[in-house]
Amino acid sequence: MSINTRSSDSLYSALPTEVDGFNDLAELALDLRWSWNHATDDIWKQLNPELWALTHNPWGLLQTVSRDKIQKVTADPAFRKRIDALLQQKRQAAESPAWFQQSYPGSALNTVAYFSMEFMLSDALPIYSGGLGNVAGDQLKAASDLGVPVIGVGLLYQQGYFRQLIDMEGNQQAVYPYNDPGQLPISPLRHANGEWLRLKLNLPGHPIWLRAWKVQVGRTKLYLLDSNDTANYPPFRAITSELYGGSAEMRLMQELVLGIGGWRLLSALGIEPEVCHLNEGHAAFAILERAREFMEKTGQPFATALAATRVGNVFTTHTAVEAGFDRFSADLIKHWLGEYATTELGISTAELLALGRQPQAELADDFNMAYLAIHGSGAVNGVSALHGKVSRQLLAPLFPRWPIDEVPIGHVTNGVHTPSWDSAAADDLWTKACGKERWLGTTETLCKSIRDVSDEDLWHFRTDASHKFVEYVREHLSQQLVASGTSPRTAAEAQHLFDPNVLTLGFARRFATYKRPNLLLHNPARLQRLLTNPERPVQLIIAGKAHPADEDGQALIKQWIEYIRQPQIRQHAIFLSDYDMFLAEHLVAGVDVWLNTPQRPWEASGTSGMKVLVNGGINLSELDGWWAEAYSPDIGWALGDGKEHGNDPAWDAIEAEALYDLLEQQVIPEFYDRDDKGTPVAWTRRMRESMARLTPQFSTNRVVREYTEQRYLPAAEAFRLRSQDNGKLAGQIADWQQTLSHCWQGLFVDGMTVKQEGDQYLFSANVLLNGLAPKDVKVELYANAVDGSSTLRQSMDCVHIPDDPMRAHLYRSVVPASQPLTEYTLRVFPFSDDVSIPLEVNHIYWEH
Ligand SMILES: *Cc1c(COP(=O)(O)O)cnc(C)c1O
Repeated sequence: MSINTRSSDSLYSALPTEVDGFNDLAELALDLRWSWNHATDDIWKQLNPELWALTHNPWGLLQTVSRDKIQKVTADPAFRKRIDALLQQKRQAAESPAWFQQSYPGSALNTVAYFSMEFMLSDALPIYSGGLGNVAGDQLKAASDLGVPVIGVGLLYQQGYFRQLIDMEGNQQAVYPYNDPGQLPISPLRHANGEWLRLKLNLPGHPIWLRAWKVQVGRTKLYLLDSNDTANYPPFRAITSELYGGSAEMRLMQELVLGIGGWRLLSALGIEPEVCHLNEGHAAFAILERAREFMEKTGQPFATALAATRVGNVFTTHTAVEAGFDRFSADLIKHWLGEYATTELGISTAELLALGRQPQAELADDFNMAYLAIHGSGAVNGVSALHGKVSRQLLAPLFPRWPIDEVPIGHVTNGVHTPSWDSAAADDLWTKACGKERWLGTTETLCKSIRDVSDEDLWHFRTDASHKFVEYVREHLSQQLVASGTSPRTAAEAQHLFDPNVLTLGFARRFATYKRPNLLLHNPARLQRLLTNPERPVQLIIAGKAHPADEDGQALIKQWIEYIRQPQIRQHAIFLSDYDMFLAEHLVAGVDVWLNTPQRPWEASGTSGMKVLVNGGINLSELDGWWAEAYSPDIGWALGDGKEHGNDPAWDAIEAEALYDLLEQQVIPEFYDRDDKGTPVAWTRRMRESMARLTPQFSTNRVVREYTEQRYLPAAEAFRLRSQDNGKLAGQIADWQQTLSHCWQGLFVDGMTVKQEGDQYLFSANVLLNGLAPKDVKVELYANAVDGSSTLRQSMDCVHIPDDPMRAHLYRSVVPASQPLTEYTLRVFPFSDDVSIPLEVNHIYWEH
């Protein structure tokens, strides 16, 4: 199929494409590279400074600026020269070999399809809510920087996530501006003859028609699907209306569109990814469609197709609570996918449901998308070391009787796309110290270079940032006050709030109760004393949205608004409404300290605190998520004792007091303790260490390299092996799985004997393999770790194979007699070099 993606394609034909130079501007405007590489900013400013400041959307701007203006500007030879140079730069950047091409020349990894429900790339493309979209967007950008061949797949929402207004009473109002696709920096995917590329999903009742769009993100592309097609049964046009809105059924339909529609779109474009990365379980239906396509190509049954394709799927889980998993009733799944399962996949609805359930499921159990993702992936990970551990506990039901530490879930700690989150001044500072190319390859040496920046330069950089920030806050607040009905006079007073010389604490995140956005309000009088201390005052900036259905979260917002509206507080605390990417950029560049107060371990990773690193902000956070592994006493401050306390109000009270103490006794004095040049020496030292050690480590540059080397490359290789020869190896694996299921019930150990010889134990065991061969299993001695020692897992050797495979095999092993005999047990589980255990085969037998 030949697909036309001319960059100047638009929904509307009235673009001044005949104006000489317009198409070049369009090419620049449609590449989201401008959103982190600010080289083109002055172009858009020149066309319309007000609109640029307001929207940061060059494509929308190009369509709003008059034809005369464009004609006039492009007629200027200097301007033309600048455009040509930028285009040249952009094309060169797209073609020159990057880190991936240099490190893995001729790699068999050609395409990673990255599925996500949301992508946070730019405010010009509001199809995100928060953290999850942030991770997805930043990973696409870093893939572009590093040349990793990633293609994003997502949904184009007509409204996206809600925008927040705070009304006169301090209530959050949710509003839904329309995402006019013609104004977004995206282009429709069309066939060569101009016809729109449309996909038809045959689902029960009515088919769903999908339209497809392309977003250029530097070297990488993001494809988006939407259902707002006039051929659809009218309610179906709304499937892609809202992000995280609507009923369970609506969500299920979105996920069908994303997973099944997304995979079909790639297929329609002739793209055959070796690796499919599921960013959260929302897109897990892609597993089914990928297997279906394999069946169609090879004629193999579903079990073989799943064995072939699952090793090419990588699943990242993002939630730290059971309730965070997406689930649907069995009835909904049967209704929407029953026929797809039986006619397309050739499996029963019971088999389909089993893919989304734990092994000992009840008939009424829901279908869990994370379970489907695990049943259909070759690698699974959480998003921080602590979250990996929590996920092993949450997902242990899928691996019954396996020790928690062997539940096959690892972690890749999140990072942020540093070039997207550094301020222009931070970019200058780092460029001087570490060079322009610093985020395009490995980053291991950056640490040393940034350490060489002097105290004075660092502090000067921070004070500049504070001045800019205070200006921004005043401006933003006065606009917000006008919008919420405040009198122009009161709104004008906002121009005098805050002071650039005062210590600024920032707190911005989703207002969900586990994040404890009101922890600082625990003792309002004590907070007031901290804020208004005449010698060492503090100012506090807060932002965040609560989901429109989350009344508790909205009550927390109101609590802050009411606190802030008191005359004695007003000067020192500000709530900025409508927390979005643009606001976040200003916050992370401007604050001195970033606060984070979740209840451990429910912040899976958190990323906002990482955004302040490059800008010289310092973290004060609960020891949760990324901070649990990043923290050391010389780079920031830690809250909590590193243990879990659930949502115990007594513990919250203790932590609130600890937070005030920390601020009062450490943070505030360190900030105001100056040398004779006015530099806070200890503060600057801390800031330098935080910048040097944490910025590279918690950048998506490191994350994408880790995913590439530890997940994508092995997944691509495993997929190649299993799928070649029409899925021969996959077929063998599927047969083996079947044999194991058949034989496992009858496997048992018929007696184990132990002899002590000196300081050794000699174990022997008669194992009845019930038709399996010794090569199919591993027989192990197992002893739990006791104080300080590690768990013993020692393989036993098969020393006698009976003539009749149904009789006992004799296994032996010798271990040091370091523990009492009662500590030892024996276990048997399947073994194969080609199969990941227990991810793909979870049988295990324990001799107790
Ligand atoms: C970074 C960011 C987030 C995610 O931050 P958390 O640390 O996970 O709370 C959410 N929303 C916006 C607008 C962001 O910029």
